[in-house]
Amino acid sequence: MIRRVVVVGGGTMGHGIAQVSAMAGCETTLVDTAEPLVEAALGRVRANLDKGVDRGKVEAAARDEALRRLRGGTDAEAAAADADLVVEAVPERFDLKADLLARLAAAAPAGALLGSNTSSLSIGDLQDAVGDAAPRVVGLHFFNPVHIMALVEVVRGPRTADATVEAGVAWARALGKDPIVVNDAPGFASSRLGIALGLEAMRMLEQGVASAADIDKAMELGYRHPMGPLRLTDLVGLDVRLDIARYLHETLGTETFRPPAILERLVAEGRLGQKTGHGFYDWNET
Ligand code: NAD
Repeated sequence: MIRRVVVVGGGTMGHGIAQVSAMAGCETTLVDTAEPLVEAALGRVRANLDKGVDRGKVEAAARDEALRRLRGGTDAEAAAADADLVVEAVPERFDLKADLLARLAAAAPAGALLGSNTSSLSIGDLQDAVGDAAPRVVGLHFFNPVHIMALVEVVRGPRTADATVEAGVAWARALGKDPIVVNDAPGFASSRLGIALGLEAMRMLEQGVASAADIDKAMELGYRHPMGPLRLTDLVGLDVRLDIARYLHETLGTETFRPPAILERLVAEGRLGQKTGHGFYDWNET
């Protein structure tokens, strides 16, 4: 039974994972690298929950209890010392995640689960970094925005124990999510398809096939996607999608995943999507 959870990385995903964890009754610690980042992440959780209360979707008492169960910190290893589950949601860089998971494996209790919110990286390669803790490593891939999206991909690495997969599925269900179990393959089930669509939309934009808004509308109205691939890329973060595209291009070796020049350029210019105000769209106007 998972009661004490540590979420490492309080960005787009981490604050949301901490929010749903605290709402589901888990004592939750949200860790980032510096106090102002922790405060910002906790502030985002408070704002989300306040909005939920205003809209009648969250009881005020449930919000207050969740906020009581949620604390912040800057020392991931200290926070992990009595955790049942540690979930990392730091940027999509293999070395960063591998080093962090190795330190967390050493700091957490011997039975603690080690979850990664990676969108694409090999769980097997991450398992190589944690020695004897490999059976307790599992992919827990949430979707953005975490408090709204129902899917969690539970990714079984080559050495993940069945009990770890079962515990991951049970925790996702306890959060009110609808999990699927996926074997370890680059990009899993969701990112591989989603990134292929997003990168092709960018190439079409580069080639002048249509405007960003019209390419998105083609998928929204023609295929009933709730959001077109370029707007979705703005929401996810262009930097996040570039990291995933590079990794999939490297590991799967197909041209489908070669990052388009427009994506490289926008990221180099700091146009990372909604979080910076500009990406394929100008978010200050919407
Ligand atoms: P983000 O850049 O918004 O947040 C990352 C956070 O991690 C930042 O607050 C950063 O300060 C913090 N961080 C960096 N190094 C750290 C460390 N050593 N210890 C503690 N905190 C540290 O990134 P994100 O979009 O939340 O993505 C995080 C992970 O989730 C990535 O693996 C990404 O692929 C995955 N993911 C992202 C999305 C999405 O839509 N953005 C969806 C699903 C999965």
